[in-house]
Amino acid sequence: MNLSSPVDPVAIARDLVRCPSVTPAEGGALRLLAGMLEEIGFEVHRLTFSEPGTADVDNLYARIGSGSPHLVFAGHTDVVPPGEPGSWTHPPFSGAIAGDELHGRGAVDMKGAIACFVAALSDHLAARAGRPAGPAGAGQPAGTVSLLITGDEEGVAVNGTPKLLQWAAERGIRFDHCLLGEPTSAEALGDAMKIGRRGSLNGTLIVTGTQGHVA
Ligand SMILES: [Zn+2]
Repeated sequence: MNLSSPVDPVAIARDLVRCPSVTPAEGGALRLLAGMLEEIGFEVHRLTFSEPGTADVDNLYARIGSGSPHLVFAGHTDVVPPGEPGSWTHPPFSGAIAGDELHGRGAVDMKGAIACFVAALSDHLAARAGRPAGPAGAGQPAGTVSLLITGDEEGVAVNGTPKLLQWAAERGIRFDHCLLGEPTSAEALGDAMKIGRRGSLNGTLIVTGTQGHVA
C-alpha cells in the first residue's frame, strides 16, 4: 500500500484558474471538474438553467456513495471580470506560480477551495480503498459526498444555487451537512470559520435628466 503520493491541490487550482470562467461563461472549468470527479467514481450531472432576461448558466452536481450522512460541498467556478489585464503582475488566467503563491482571477474566490476539496476527497477515497490517490484509487465514502457547484455566483445569481437546490429537492436529495469554500480568513489560512455569510443585493439604478457629454 502506497499512500504517499497525494493528489496535488495546487495543480488542480492552477488548471481551474486557467479557465476564463467569467460569469456567465463556463470557460472549461466545470468540464475540467467533471472529468476529475468522474475519474474518482463520482456520478456527475451537468445542468444548464435558464431564466427569461438572463444568460443561460452551466452548473454541476456530483455525488458518490449512498445513504447518510450526506456531506455536500457547495461552491462556484465563475469569477468576476479581471479588469485591465495590463494591471496584473501575471496575466489573470495564466495560473502563474511565483515563489509559493498562485496568481490569477479566482485563485482565492474560490477555485483554490474547490481544488482543495477535490484533492482531499481523492486522497480520502483512495485511503478508504487502501490504494494510491488518483484516478484508479477511488473507494467509497461512509455515507454520501456531493459537490454542488454553480457557475452563477458572481453575476445575477438566478441560474445557480437556488435552482440546483430545487433540482435536488425534486429528486428527494437531502443534505445533512454543508461546507462552503468561500474565503473567510482574516490574517492566516484557517483563522476563521463562519456559520453564515454576508448577504448580497443586486439593484438597478435609473437616473433621469438630460444626457450630456463633455469631452
Ligand atoms: Zn465566492
